[in-house]
Amino acid sequence: MEINIHNIGDNIGPEKILLLRQPRIGLEAIVVVDNVACGPAIGGLRMAPDITIEEIYRLARAMTLKNAAAGLTHGGAKSGIIADPACSREQKEKLVRTFARMIKELTEYIPGPDMGTNEECMAWVIDEIGRAAGLPRVLGGIPLDEIGATGFGVAVAAEVAAPEAGFSIKGSHFAVQGFGAVGKHAAKFLCKQGAILVAASDSQGATQNQNGLDLDALINHKKEGSPVKTFPGGQAMDNNELVGTKCDIWIPAARPDVLTENNVDQLKARLVVHGANIPATETAEQLMHKRGILNIPDFIANAGGVICAAVEYHGGSEKQAMETIEEKIRTNTLETLQRSKKENLLPREAGVKMALSRIKKAMADSGT
Ligand code: NAD
Repeated sequence: MEINIHNIGDNIGPEKILLLRQPRIGLEAIVVVDNVACGPAIGGLRMAPDITIEEIYRLARAMTLKNAAAGLTHGGAKSGIIADPACSREQKEKLVRTFARMIKELTEYIPGPDMGTNEECMAWVIDEIGRAAGLPRVLGGIPLDEIGATGFGVAVAAEVAAPEAGFSIKGSHFAVQGFGAVGKHAAKFLCKQGAILVAASDSQGATQNQNGLDLDALINHKKEGSPVKTFPGGQAMDNNELVGTKCDIWIPAARPDVLTENNVDQLKARLVVHGANIPATETAEQLMHKRGILNIPDFIANAGGVICAAVEYHGGSEKQAMETIEEKIRTNTLETLQRSKKENLLPREAGVKMALSRIKKAMADSGT
């Protein structure tokens, strides 16, 4: 692995970059602790064969900003085991347990589940070192994807931002790209507020119905293993057509960089709420801003999952987690929008400024 740590970091972090190797069992892993001024860092442990230090650093920084923006008493970190996540369960357990033992003394880092790891992996981690977030329910965990913690936060952000974009949630039309854990639950909570789902997609295609898709029926259709494009209550369309759906709110909840300078002119929505991480390129966000399409950035809108993990870590209940998500995402969305307007900044720039001011204050107060 080529390492050039001079390309990484600034006056915020990272504080630690660890390369871990245990040749006997074939463990290679990276940990980046970016900033812990606000408290011990919470950040996912991912497993993938192509992880790099730069990637882990960028993700750790995103966690620093997300946790600070959410007002959590936690800093940001991320880690990755360089391995195939489809390896045998036995090998995965060996790798995760060895990784956990090797970070036992790194008490400023609390791992959580991420791509390629899950709640069971966190059960192994807590068994080894006594700290982890995103645990199975039997160990006091709050199953955040099952309860829709992130999707709930996305719906709250949409509700707060809608009047700013010139409409109210009740009766508004919305489209969801990626009908998975985040997208499906965002749709559920928005429909509860009286919004109408008019289009949805998954990796195999999309479906639309301007009169409204029957959400429960669509969820059942997906549960049976069928792709959204075969949903009988809608008209099938290609994935790339979803961007041009006539609607008020467009929710990316699938992959990074799906809105680019090549397709953003097709958007008809007035509000884009980022369920996925970095779903729009920088240029696409600037172009949307110019056209008056309001964007609520990922680290503000999709913080429900990490807020839920933090509540769990501090011994809170599922009810407290949902209340905390609502309160924090409501306040932060409002503050981001106010700052953006007052200082004539993109909402993302305003959100970063808000998070950085909290981090810098914490650094000054703690003398770090
Ligand atoms: P998921 O795997 O449950 O769902 C993803 C969905 O996107 C699936 O339905 C998949 O078929 C669909 N998809 C994949 N490629 C697509 C494409 N090209 N076009 C349309 N749909 C496509 O994942 P998730 O947990 O819902 O996460 C979605 C995104 O949100 C990811 O970017 C993730 O990093 C981010 N995120 C998730 C959480 C969380 O709590 N789960 C928190 C913050 C951010």
